Amino acid sequence: MERLQKVLAHDGVASRRQSEKLIMSGRVKVNGTVVTELGTKVGVHDKILVDGVPVTTEAPVYVMLYKPRAVISTANDEKGRKTVVDLIEDIPQRIYPVGRLDYDTAGLLLLTNDGELANRLTHPKYEVEKTYVARVTGTPTNDAMRQLRQGMTVDGEVYAPAKTKLLSSDPKKRSSIVQLIIHEGKNHQVKKMLEAVGYPVEKLKREKYGNLTLKGLNAGEARLLKPEEVKELK
Ligand code: URA
Repeated sequence: MERLQKVLAHDGVASRRQSEKLIMSGRVKVNGTVVTELGTKVGVHDKILVDGVPVTTEAPVYVMLYKPRAVISTANDEKGRKTVVDLIEDIPQRIYPVGRLDYDTAGLLLLTNDGELANRLTHPKYEVEKTYVARVTGTPTNDAMRQLRQGMTVDGEVYAPAKTKLLSSDPKKRSSIVQLIIHEGKNHQVKKMLEAVGYPVEKLKREKYGNLTLKGLNAGEARLLKPEEVKELK
């Protein structure tokens, strides 16, 4: 979502200052209602009219990226590191990541300019399942797996129950591969949960987002979502 005057200026209706004047003088309608509040936020699906003439906003676009490790998932980095947006070419719209993956986490990341959908998807209430595969140090006991399935509180942060599976264990390498499915997206959640039960994460990848998988993509590659994939997310 963007401020209305910014959208008007961005879409070439008028300068930012002139757009503010248009709004304050009651010449702008959003979804059929006159809006005079400057702070009003609008998204790609809102219908904006200036003096009854529709403003063409950017078409919504939905991208799936196979984020590699060592790339940050904000749109800008003050330290000048490579960001996920730098990896996406040929998309003229300004798009933003839906939630985050850690710098050292690989896997499926969605990007879009549809702020409304992004907000919905990152709200735990909507319960989009995110499937992670982690390499952890040691072999988790049944008790540790049970704790993950029950949910837990770590440093005052409450984590909802996860679905878990021990996929494999390599005693020689002293490590195991664990699948964790969660619907929240709290900071470092998978690492914190596994660490809390005694099995620190060495490597982490997000393999699925809802029903979307990385099939057909290599690390660093992106593709547009198909209309039916977008529909399923909504
Ligand atoms: N959980 C984490 O700990 N890190 C991520 O990047 C995603 C989920």
